[in-house]
Amino acid sequence: KPAAAQRARATSAASSQLRITHPDRVIDEASGTTKIELVRFYESVADWLMPHLEQRPLALVRAPEGVGGELFFQKHVEGNDLIVVRNMAEVLAFTQLNTIELHTWNSRSDKLDKPDRIVFDLDPGEGVAFAQVKEGAQLVRALLEELSLKSWLKTSGGKGLHVVVPLTRRADHETCKAFSRAVVEHLAATLPKRFSAKSGPRNRVGKIFVDYLRNGEGQTTASAFSVRARPGLGVSMPIAWDDLADLKGGDQWKVRDARDHLSFVKQDPWADYWTCRQTLTAGQKMLAADD
Ligand code: ATP
Ligand code: MN
Ligand code: MN
Repeated sequence: KPAAAQRARATSAASSQLRITHPDRVIDEASGTTKIELVRFYESVADWLMPHLEQRPLALVRAPEGVGGELFFQKHVEGNDLIVVRNMAEVLAFTQLNTIELHTWNSRSDKLDKPDRIVFDLDPGEGVAFAQVKEGAQLVRALLEELSLKSWLKTSGGKGLHVVVPLTRRADHETCKAFSRAVVEHLAATLPKRFSAKSGPRNRVGKIFVDYLRNGEGQTTASAFSVRARPGLGVSMPIAWDDLADLKGGDQWKVRDARDHLSFVKQDPWADYWTCRQTLTAGQKMLAADD
């Protein structure tokens, strides 16, 4: 069990009271996965998932007609309030409403203006092999390490990888975004064949676009343990840096095997993420000195 998940346990049983309509409806033709399988998956990873959601504004990707149909990206509930879940029962209530993906802000509701993390979203352009994405993640990690910042790795559940830097809550969104942009621009300037700092498909053919825009205020990233509304239903999975070499793809784990994988993991690869205390200050100074 993940160390930080004790609180979620009490609530994870609440789902038995929730009525799931159309439990046997297939939500992904590619894998034949049903709505109830998705609900059971989320229930089964409650202790792993909840620490990533707690107090954090969410965006939901809802798929009323399944993965092949129209997807709805929802950031508010009635009355235009941000969505924040208190427990697993509330997550499962959203799955009853055909939610597949869970995306989160970089900040928590008690201090919305001060992010507790930065995300580097590695997006491979056309013609980029996954080996190059893995190398890209290592390079992002190495640069961050040079800037005295520890980072953690997860698959996106889709094509790429997410490198996440936990922060104590001092800097605002603007500062975090500016810093992450400077990191990405430095990478693109130093290794222009590998990295692009510009979004848009034409700018990243054969390259990795490291998307720093995820760090703007109100922006979201797919949460760890979120299922993805894409054929095969990949899952965003935290992994250890040591396991990156063996990784096969951003969607290596799917809704049907992600939970089993966790049973084999000896130690939560993100155990130290939650206790890491670091600020941008040192890294900012070093990057600024570079100009
Ligand atoms: P991949 O590894 O395949 O890139 P990903 O989750 O990183 O998977 P991206 O396309 O890189 O996918 O990220 C899209 C980001 O945009 C997500 O983090 C999501 O939270 C955000 N987003 C903002 N608006 C939308 C929207 N309307 N639909 C989907 N995503 C949205
Ligand atoms: Mn991405
Ligand atoms: Mn992206």
